[in-house]
Amino acid sequence: MRTRRGVCYPRPQWRAEEPEEEEEEEEEEESRRRKRQRRVPAGGAAADEAARMMAAEGVAGEMPDFFDSLPDDLVVSILCKLSASAARPADLVGVRITCKRLNELGSDPLALAMASVKSLAVRAKNWSESAHEFLKQCADAGNLEACYILGMIRFYCLQNRGTGASLMARAAMGSHAAALYSLAVIQFNGSGGSKDDKDLRAGVALCARAAVLGHVDALRELGHCLQDGYGVRRNVAEGRRFLIQANARELAAVLNSSPVWKRHGDALASGCSLLSDFGCNVPAPEAHPANRFMAEWFAARGASGWPGEDGLRLCSHSGCGRPETRRHEFRRCSVCGVVNYCSRACQALHWKLAHKAECSPMDRWLYAAGAPPEVGAGEMMMMN
Ligand SMILES: [Zn+2]
Ligand SMILES: [Zn+2]
Repeated sequence: MRTRRGVCYPRPQWRAEEPEEEEEEEEEEESRRRKRQRRVPAGGAAADEAARMMAAEGVAGEMPDFFDSLPDDLVVSILCKLSASAARPADLVGVRITCKRLNELGSDPLALAMASVKSLAVRAKNWSESAHEFLKQCADAGNLEACYILGMIRFYCLQNRGTGASLMARAAMGSHAAALYSLAVIQFNGSGGSKDDKDLRAGVALCARAAVLGHVDALRELGHCLQDGYGVRRNVAEGRRFLIQANARELAAVLNSSPVWKRHGDALASGCSLLSDFGCNVPAPEAHPANRFMAEWFAARGASGWPGEDGLRLCSHSGCGRPETRRHEFRRCSVCGVVNYCSRACQALHWKLAHKAECSPMDRWLYAAGAPPEVGAGEMMMMN
């Protein structure tokens, strides 16, 4: 077989019987010749010297090493396919620890740029300097998902707001929908700054860009902003249209991922209330690796005092994981006052998934009677 570069691969020679001594010697000589070719491309005195050294090291007796004879670009292209289809970070780590060559080629920017979302889904309990370095290398290689995940971790967990926001902005400039939506949430709340840093119009603009890309939370957020006239001129009909679109996309996503549907069989049987508007019960959407990381990160620190003496709280929607960056940043449920949300999208989703059953019965009665309770400053009403 001949590669594009013109390098010939050795023809495999499997031996059914004990080989003749002569054949064995020929193979050994062939093996030595191939190794010399790979390691010392130029001929001359250097090649002879290397050959003498290898002979002294005693390479005789080894089987032909087909892997060593593969050109680098072919190995990198295989690693690209692997990183694009990896189901967990361990898949990539497992390959890279195999040998020095795979470790070096595994850090090729081409392979890192193609790393899949699942291969970047580092768990909070496994967070380390090397995990940080891996995400940084992928982000530097232009992997937008890595830019977003590392941006969220730095902004919220490591409290490195500047570099976190700039990484998210880099992902957003590459039309990464979740990054656009997260930047919108930061603008709506003035996260990382003071109350005066809220920029509702910028939040709506970012949300609209994420909604165009089909981001479900952004569609829901934009729908509620339009219905409430929050950061944009009020338009109830248009807002309703976005909310219906969000529900439809959510349903489509669930129907397309049948394993998830089966895995949540119990939830289906017990009647998860998401999409109940359509008389259709589906499981809660799977959280993005960045959100899952934050939820696990802060849950692990709960024992040591999170939300802590500073009184900062987490978003009550369990699939979100965003923490407050200053006191009273999030809005609370105006009915019971015990849950807090980073966004209207989180509140609407959590209401359908769980809070509808937990909130005060009095207010459910008021809703049924069509008289929703008043909403105070910094509070948010229940939304369908
Ligand atoms: Zn409530
Ligand atoms: Zn949230």
